[in-house]
Amino acid sequence: MQTPPSPIDPRWTILKILQWTTAYFKSHPIDSPRLTAEILLAHTLNTKRIDLYTRFDQPLTKDELAVFKALIKRRVRREPVAYITGNREFFGIDFDVSPFVLIPRPETEFLVEAALAHIPKIPSTPLRILEVGVGSGAVIVSLAVNRPEHDYAASDISVNALRKAAVNARKNGIGGNIRFFAGDVFAPLSPSACSFDVIVSNPPYVPASQLTALEPEVRDFEPALALDGGADGMDIIRKIINEAPQYLNNNALLMLEIGFDQKDRTAQLIINDGRYSYPEFIKDYGGHHRVAVMHKI
Ligand code: GLN
Repeated sequence: MQTPPSPIDPRWTILKILQWTTAYFKSHPIDSPRLTAEILLAHTLNTKRIDLYTRFDQPLTKDELAVFKALIKRRVRREPVAYITGNREFFGIDFDVSPFVLIPRPETEFLVEAALAHIPKIPSTPLRILEVGVGSGAVIVSLAVNRPEHDYAASDISVNALRKAAVNARKNGIGGNIRFFAGDVFAPLSPSACSFDVIVSNPPYVPASQLTALEPEVRDFEPALALDGGADGMDIIRKIINEAPQYLNNNALLMLEIGFDQKDRTAQLIINDGRYSYPEFIKDYGGHHRVAVMHKI
């Protein structure tokens, strides 16, 4: 038997609740208050944000109001919108996210673009492409969706992250294109069996001492495992630069996302290593050198 619909509260139309919530978010330090209110209300009503605009006069049911209020409370406690709705768009693709994975960042799109520039659309032979620390799968799924004619592999120390990445691969029709390996950096791969033409990574690169200074959204909700780069933030970057040559074919590419102030130290590591070409750095929207690109020589 169906439960009868709960009575409608005529005071709270979509427009009124959006106005109230926007003001409420403004009085707390919540970014983009109107947009956040719209995203959370659209999620509550299981509709698109744009459709709210054609339904401004529609009153919310008591149940809808209760669900929406709970989401407002979560956001005011600084839980990121993407964890509340369970998804985030990246590179034009909708990704499932959970607190086991970092929420994809706009600056990471530069890593995807840099890799796409080097991966041919129609290959003479498929390239072997690896992502280390796959998280939600945002990077490798974006690559595989745009360049499906290649062989992809991905590792992550977190099995829960691998599960999410696998979900995102399946959702985008490339589930069969990516092999997933559970383990730290290159640990689950054997150098004799695995050689790649491209390795990409957005490793954890925040210095441990700076984790507590991050925004509450990041500090209290995102996985420290995906952020903590050790004392100087460069533990995993060093490890990748040091170990990647064993897994790279000659002339193959390594591309790393790095912290906003890590360009000089990363360049030094690469030059001192001696097994790579002189690195190139790509700037992000904020003008920070964000992606390091090098060849194995
Ligand atoms: N850019 C992220 C931040 O500042 C860090 C991502 C990472 O460590 N890979 O929150």
